[in-house]
Amino acid sequence: MLAPPSLAVWLGVDSPIGGLDRSSEVRLSFDRERHERLEAAFADVQLGAAVAIDVEKGGVLALFSKGESRGDRSIAERHVAVSSMLPPASAIKPFTALGAMALGVLTPETKHVCRGSFAYRGTQLRCWGAHGSLDVQRALVVSDNSFFYEVVSKLTLDQLADNQRSFGFGRAPDWPPGAAAGLVPDAKWYARRDGGSPEHHTLVQAIGHGDIRVTPLQLALGYAAIASGRRSSPTLTQESAGQSGEALPESYTANLPPVREALARAVSDASGTAHFGDLKPDVAGKMGSADEMVDGVARKIGWFAGWTPAEKPRIAFAFYAENLSGRAVARIALEPGLISSN
Ligand SMILES: [Zn+2]
Repeated sequence: MLAPPSLAVWLGVDSPIGGLDRSSEVRLSFDRERHERLEAAFADVQLGAAVAIDVEKGGVLALFSKGESRGDRSIAERHVAVSSMLPPASAIKPFTALGAMALGVLTPETKHVCRGSFAYRGTQLRCWGAHGSLDVQRALVVSDNSFFYEVVSKLTLDQLADNQRSFGFGRAPDWPPGAAAGLVPDAKWYARRDGGSPEHHTLVQAIGHGDIRVTPLQLALGYAAIASGRRSSPTLTQESAGQSGEALPESYTANLPPVREALARAVSDASGTAHFGDLKPDVAGKMGSADEMVDGVARKIGWFAGWTPAEKPRIAFAFYAENLSGRAVARIALEPGLISSN
């Protein structure tokens, strides 16, 4: 049986797992039908990726790329899902919330009033609306910016960066060889450049803009960690039975329930940014949208990441597409049968 093209690239002789696949003793975790469905769903997308991970066992179910990234030395370096380093935009906000709660500057009861912008040292950082009074759940459901600006104004850039690294950002995943590490800038990183204000960098990095970069695989692993309470590292065999990854520190796990619930509501609430009235998916997730200049050309980057089912996560995922908004990517991902059964 021939593998679909997006999967076959991983099974070739030159690929990081080509040797594995030739052994009849090993059953890979890759899901052939899921790859076929992704190929159909991404038919109109020129550049994008989707990653699906078995939350319990850590097995990679799908590692799908459409188009090629710029590197050309190995399969992993060409593979958008593991090599494209992109601004995560609002898809980073759940990690920002967990970090702020772990450091004690945010509780589920903390309130902030969004008036459409956040005044900071004489400049105004914008939110995309005037969202009124919000707690952290509401801020995640409507994807407020100014809530997170205020929260991280109490943190240093290095505290924020350490928190982001705790979820695997800024570090190459254990597999595949050649997978990109992304970038989590800290005060030292900016000190080597022309600087700018560390406080300003903290605020924009908290909402996934500025210089932070993640890969689709890293974002899927991060959401798997929120869904499971454990740090995931990708494995490729069905035999890796049992739960994978070490538990997150208690300072994080204690605060997972309100964040998980907020991401379920981002899909199910009528005001949720990933809500579509005609769809009733059993999914928790968060979208993100970024605009980035590359070689003088504006690129639009859309994300949708989360897990399914919302209450008892089995599969964590991240979808990315270029030239689409996060909402448009969510619409693709939430089409019945692609990641959830209803
Ligand atoms: Zn707002």
